[in-house]
Amino acid sequence: MHVDLASYADLAIVLVNSRHRTGADDLRRLDGPRRLDGLRDLDGLRDLLAGRPHLGGGTLRPRDLDAMRELRDQLHAVFTASAAGDHEQAAERLNELLIQHPVHPQLSAHDGLDWHLHVNEGGAVPDVYAARAAMGLAVRVAEHGIDRLRVCRTDGCGRVFLDTTKDRSRHHCPDHAADEDNVGDPGDPGDPGDAEGRAPDAPADGPPVSADATDGPRVSADAPNGRAGPRA
Ligand SMILES: [Zn+2]
Ligand SMILES: [Zn+2]
Repeated sequence: MHVDLASYADLAIVLVNSRHRTGADDLRRLDGPRRLDGLRDLDGLRDLLAGRPHLGGGTLRPRDLDAMRELRDQLHAVFTASAAGDHEQAAERLNELLIQHPVHPQLSAHDGLDWHLHVNEGGAVPDVYAARAAMGLAVRVAEHGIDRLRVCRTDGCGRVFLDTTKDRSRHHCPDHAADEDNVGDPGDPGDPGDAEGRAPDAPADGPPVSADATDGPRVSADAPNGRAGPRA
């Protein structure tokens, strides 16, 4: 197994965002999306860990759930500090996590593979998870900058994410990338028509919005309005 420490940052993001998990099915509910705590019980924790077999196995206990919730709060605090512009505090909190959950690299050779690195093998799931998540986040921060740790600005969202755009312009999670258009500078003379043709200097790594996507939340000025006519 190839170890890419930076990819472990994803563990931190997934865990923090389990605070309010909205399932794809929930989004279609007529009474509005249900937002459940992804760590409401051990089944929730098992769901979160599904597809990540390298985190260790064994029976999950209630105290593992408590440990994961505590880790989640700690990681969340790193993001909220950064999003509030308090980068000093964000770094301090992340450093505390790195001290609390040291990384233990080990060389391993198995399944005919050459000697390669494994990280924190064999510990309890929360310990393995914490060491990898903190390390991954720290590697990302060192690579991109601590201000890249963001909290989505869409009302009621609160999901965290890593802004890796060149111009550090992303302020909304991938689910709310469409809201990014509303962040434009307030002095901009209204030009609602520019959605069709992006300026040539628009960042190429912005949200992948295609001009002919019709299922997005964008409101077009010339949308046929079937209810405009007088009712009989
Ligand atoms: Zn391996
Ligand atoms: Zn969001």
